[in-house]
Amino acid sequence: MSAEPLILVSNDDGIHSDGLRALADALTPHGHIVVVAPDREQSAVSHALTLHRPLRIDEVAPDRYTVDGTPTDCVNLGINAILRGRRPVLVVSGINKGANLGDDVTYSGTVSAAMEGTLLGVSSIAVSQIGRGPYDFTVAATFAGELIERVLRDGLPPDTLLNVNVPAFQDGARPAGVALTRMGKRRYGDAIVEKVDPRGRKYYWIGGEELSFVEGEGTDFHAISQGAISVTPIHLDLTNYASFDALRPLVGSWS
Ligand code: MN
Repeated sequence: MSAEPLILVSNDDGIHSDGLRALADALTPHGHIVVVAPDREQSAVSHALTLHRPLRIDEVAPDRYTVDGTPTDCVNLGINAILRGRRPVLVVSGINKGANLGDDVTYSGTVSAAMEGTLLGVSSIAVSQIGRGPYDFTVAATFAGELIERVLRDGLPPDTLLNVNVPAFQDGARPAGVALTRMGKRRYGDAIVEKVDPRGRKYYWIGGEELSFVEGEGTDFHAISQGAISVTPIHLDLTNYASFDALRPLVGSWS
C-alpha cells in the first residue's frame, strides 16, 4: 500500500480531452492519480446526477475509468464505487477548455465535479484554461501541480472548493501573479443566434458572443483581464444571508 495521497481527477470535456491528460500528468508527481471522466463531452451539464437509467463504468487503462454519465456521476461513482474504501484526499477537475468565470459557474460541469467532491467531504479544485482554442495547458498544469502541493500541505477551509481560471498566454509569457477573487457578473446581452433550418423552421443557438462582464475590482473577470490567475473560493451554501432582514416581514406575519 502506497503512502502517496490518492487524488481523483475528473472533467466535463470527456476522457479524450488533452486538458484532462495535462492535468493528470501534472499531478502525477504529487500523488497516486485515478482518473474517472465522462466517456464523452459533458460541458455545461451543471450538477446533473443521473438517476433514471443505469450507469456503466469502463476501465480503459490502469487507473483510468470512463462513466457514461455526467461529471457529477463520475465523482460520485469514483468516490463511492471505484475508490470505495480508499478515500481520495483531493478531487481535481479539469483542465477545462474554456473559462468558468462569474455566473457561468452555475452551468459548469467542471466546477460541479468539484462541488460533488466537496459535498462528499473531499477537498476539491476546478481548473479552467481560458480561451477558445487551440489550448496551451502548460501554465495551468504547472500551476495546478504547485497549488495542490500547497493544498495537500495546508488543507482547505471546510465546504469550500477552489475555482481556478488561467488566462491564455502567448509564447511563454508568464502570469501577472495569482489573485484571490470573488465571482463576477457576466453581462448577458441578446446572445442568441436565430436562424432557419433547411425545412423552414426556426432554430436557436445560445451564447454566440465573446466574453463580456461587469467591471468590478476583486472579481475573477478583473483578475483575468489583468493577466493574473484567478482563484475563487466557492462554498455551496447559496443562502443570501444579507437578505434576511429585508425578508423577515414577508415571512413573519403568517397566521
Ligand atoms: Mn468543458
